[in-house]
Amino acid sequence: MRLLVCGVRGSTPAPGPEFVRYGGNTSCVAVLADDDELPRLVLDAGTGLGRLSKELGGEAFVGTILLGHLHWDHTHGLPFFPAGYHPDAKVQVLLPEQGEDAEELLGRAFSPPHFPIWPRQLGVGWRFDSLKEGEHDIEGFDVLAREIPHKGGRTFGYRVSDGASSIAYLSDHGPVAYGAGPDGFGPYHEAAMALASGVDLLIHDAQHTAAEFPSRSFMGHSAVDYPVGLAKEAGARSVLLFHHDPPRTDDELDAIVESLAGGPVPVTAAAEGVVITL
Ligand SMILES: [Zn+2]
Ligand SMILES: [Zn+2]
Repeated sequence: MRLLVCGVRGSTPAPGPEFVRYGGNTSCVAVLADDDELPRLVLDAGTGLGRLSKELGGEAFVGTILLGHLHWDHTHGLPFFPAGYHPDAKVQVLLPEQGEDAEELLGRAFSPPHFPIWPRQLGVGWRFDSLKEGEHDIEGFDVLAREIPHKGGRTFGYRVSDGASSIAYLSDHGPVAYGAGPDGFGPYHEAAMALASGVDLLIHDAQHTAAEFPSRSFMGHSAVDYPVGLAKEAGARSVLLFHHDPPRTDDELDAIVESLAGGPVPVTAAAEGVVITL
């Protein structure tokens, strides 16, 4: 499996010279099986989705965009995805089931007067559907979808496997209880443990530092050391810090990665444009 990291930032894009090495686009990761030339599965549609169009080099996107939840930073890229307007494009958008029509739900933020068009106006090749918790075959990948604690809207984490390697993607996830449990974050959530169990790479929310976390825990995100503890408990082999806080500079991210070196699992921070081969 290969991953093309297209957007790494949480909450809102972070343009500027302090952010050029890790990147300022919001959440988007393309997943390729070993024999895929073009990605067919994309996790989240933050502004990083625009970068994926460039990587496709003028080819149409044919595949599925799997949304973990509907916060702006995970959907803003949908209408700015030229590879999805190609006449040969076929784009299936899947979002967590929550008792409403998927397109109507997305259209609440993505329609006049908030935005000039409705989702269906993206093109005839687009369709929108809901996904239930559980195991699915999506674009040839085994995908496990589980609801995980975040804030303000149903949020899924995903485990994706091609049979040879596996990842867990928990872009937005915070501890349910602060101050107790094995690492001071409360007990690790059962769904997060199931998703992360034994994966090659845990891609996880790392919005805050440990020092920032006590005053920000209400936001539904994690501190950088949380995914390290989760990986250790769940037997995940490595961690990719993701959903970086918008003001977090390149130098600060370097320092965070350095501070976590020598821990129970290898830790890196997600950077745009990087291809990860598992
Ligand atoms: Zn987010
Ligand atoms: Zn969110």
